[in-house]
Amino acid sequence: MTSNSPNYIMALDLGTTGNRAILFDRAGQIAAQAYKELTQYYPQPGWVEHDPTEIWQDLNWAMQTVLKDAEIAPRQIAAIGLTVQRETCLLWDKTTGKPLHNAIVWQDRRTAPLCNKLREEGYVDDIYNRTGLVLDAYFSATKLNWLIDWVKTHQSVNWDNVLAGTIDTWALWNLTGGKVHATDHSNASRTMLLDLKTGTWDATLLDRFGIPGEIMPKIQTSLGEFGRTDPKLLGVEIPITAILGDQQAALFAHGCNRPGSLKCTYGTGAFLVSHTGSEIARSQNYLLSTIAWSQAASGESPTLGYALEGSMFTAGACIQWLRDGLKLIETAAETEAMANQVEDNGGVYFVPALSGLGAPHWDMNARGAFLGITRGVQREQMVRAVLEAIAYQAKEVVQAVNEDSGTPIQTLKVDGGACNNNFLMQFQADVLGIPVERPAVLDATAQGAAFAAGLAVGFWDSYDTLVSNRKIDRVFEPGTGATQAQANFTLWKKAVDRAKNWIE
Ligand code: ADP
Repeated sequence: MTSNSPNYIMALDLGTTGNRAILFDRAGQIAAQAYKELTQYYPQPGWVEHDPTEIWQDLNWAMQTVLKDAEIAPRQIAAIGLTVQRETCLLWDKTTGKPLHNAIVWQDRRTAPLCNKLREEGYVDDIYNRTGLVLDAYFSATKLNWLIDWVKTHQSVNWDNVLAGTIDTWALWNLTGGKVHATDHSNASRTMLLDLKTGTWDATLLDRFGIPGEIMPKIQTSLGEFGRTDPKLLGVEIPITAILGDQQAALFAHGCNRPGSLKCTYGTGAFLVSHTGSEIARSQNYLLSTIAWSQAASGESPTLGYALEGSMFTAGACIQWLRDGLKLIETAAETEAMANQVEDNGGVYFVPALSGLGAPHWDMNARGAFLGITRGVQREQMVRAVLEAIAYQAKEVVQAVNEDSGTPIQTLKVDGGACNNNFLMQFQADVLGIPVERPAVLDATAQGAAFAAGLAVGFWDSYDTLVSNRKIDRVFEPGTGATQAQANFTLWKKAVDRAKNWIE
């Protein structure tokens, strides 16, 4: 290998909490990274927005900074892999490059009334059959509908110049200097506009949501060349050879590429995803059918891989709320020591329905709640109740997956920012009664994007070797707290029942 040949893959991870650029070396290890937290906007209760210009500026900053800090020349980068928070979407003007409104974030509930109307009109089964998704404000379709209506009412635009996209599409368009308007199957499958069987935009649904087909991006395979970076950015053209939704990228990193292999990511939300092979699996327990990723051998048509997913909207987000909203804590990390300081939750149960409830309830009208508070309850017990709630939620989804598959899960593979919390991981093993396996690299999302981009460009040649070289940091076995944790799960479910259908 000459010193001039590229030695790194750059993963760009555009998460809900922040944007990150990570360099992976030939051994698949992290060589350097740069990260910036992203501003969250809450203009009204239940509404969540991001500023797309900030996302692009921070992404650009992260790319430049990681290279500068690590003293690595841009020509050392063989390819870029992009992974993003899913469902969050926006409209922009291709002539000015300016967004027409803030991006509406996946957690945003403003389109719940439209979903309720469609439910009353009997569209639930039709939408599920076409897209594999449960009719909910979570997905992009109703958000794009809202944005189009808003722009029509507040601005006069030439619709020939308007482009729509999820965050991957926005980043790709900017990275390529406005040349490429595309997305991949995994992100497209989260819009509630994709025909899950064919992997193409569903004309009936575009029409139903009032979205002109011309403003939608072209759908490409998740692994493959999407375009090259504008030389103005880094001085060289770097191919962008993978795009994946964040959960699908983590699934890829864990080596879950066949039926029955699954993982749970604890980030802003928590997402349990199980690969189901090349067939669409349908759930009896309100899990979503979605696309894992797609690829194509040269000259052949794309193969779509499918997955079942249990989406929990609020996990790390409730820790963020303890920090930024309630100001009960200063850092997310201190919750571990606080939870360990007390013997139990003091009878307090938390329902993490800060953005409604996802799987397996799908209740847009549920809201968060603390139950069981008495005068003796301490701050530490409230914090502990919040961490416990994250684990209880995951248990409900594991139960759903077990029922759907008929084969109980033996081990839970985990990743994501909140996995750093040892209390949470131990409690998760206790309440599930199975081991929880935490890898050394918790950024499985970025790792998956890097693996996919590197394999697509021929930087690596064996997926199996990459996956088997990943190191395990720690396995949490169910311990002495297991019996109590499992008994408390029943009480927590009672609390969830109380918080359901709270608002009209
Ligand atoms: P995303 O990709 O959704 O932006 P990340 O995987 O980067 O999320 O994880 C960030 C989330 O994890 C934040 O919501 C944060 O509150 C939470 N988090 C980070 N560290 C801890 C910790 N030690 N304990 C609990 N939660 C944590």
